[in-house]
Amino acid sequence: MPATPAGPSHDCPLCSRLKTFREEWRANEPTWFNAPVPSFGPRTAQLLIVGLAPGLQGANRTGRPFTGDYAGVLLYDTLARYGFSRGTYAADPGDGLELVDARITNAVRCLPPLNKPTGAEIATCRQFLAATIADMPKLRAIVALGRIAHDSVVAALGERPKAAPFGHGAVHAIGGLRLFDSYHCSRYNTNTRVLTPQMFEAVFASVRADLDNPQTPQRSDGEVSSP
Ligand code: SF4
Repeated sequence: MPATPAGPSHDCPLCSRLKTFREEWRANEPTWFNAPVPSFGPRTAQLLIVGLAPGLQGANRTGRPFTGDYAGVLLYDTLARYGFSRGTYAADPGDGLELVDARITNAVRCLPPLNKPTGAEIATCRQFLAATIADMPKLRAIVALGRIAHDSVVAALGERPKAAPFGHGAVHAIGGLRLFDSYHCSRYNTNTRVLTPQMFEAVFASVRADLDNPQTPQRSDGEVSSP
């Protein structure tokens, strides 16, 4: 599969460590996806959700972001609750689920060892995040899941991280877009109650209200508020 303007090739060679790890998993589990995971959802969406990177048994196995691992259960349940999906999530790319006015991508497209991409890998893959953002003509809002996704989105939008510090529930105005921050919906964060379903839902309730109200005043770049 060749690279597209907004996505890497199936065999993207740009991060040597991740390429080696990918080839190991292709040998271990030849039926798994084991490749850079493409974005899911229409490019005409107003909302983009940015995660960190594919999970081993989730997107790396199934080829669809957040599909097949614990984090996806809370994310897709919340998207359905706020009208951003149609159909029933069944943890399988063949479940027929469609995203409605929403798209999901990752700051890093390939599976990193121990779920921890390096700074260089995050910076290298940012070109695909920036291209994904640029390829969405109706984009109005981004939800960043966790600090790394947040920082990479801010950099992809050409802003300094200090101008828009990460904070759960914070909303930033950058480049004509609103950036909503949430703790990542990982198993660890939900098991430790760093992120509760109610906290996660509050973020998406704010996004829903923002998108449903085109009169929402634009904030100046870098301003932070709580929903
Ligand atoms: S993480 Fe991104 S840039 Fe690095 S190899 Fe994968 S697709 Fe290519």
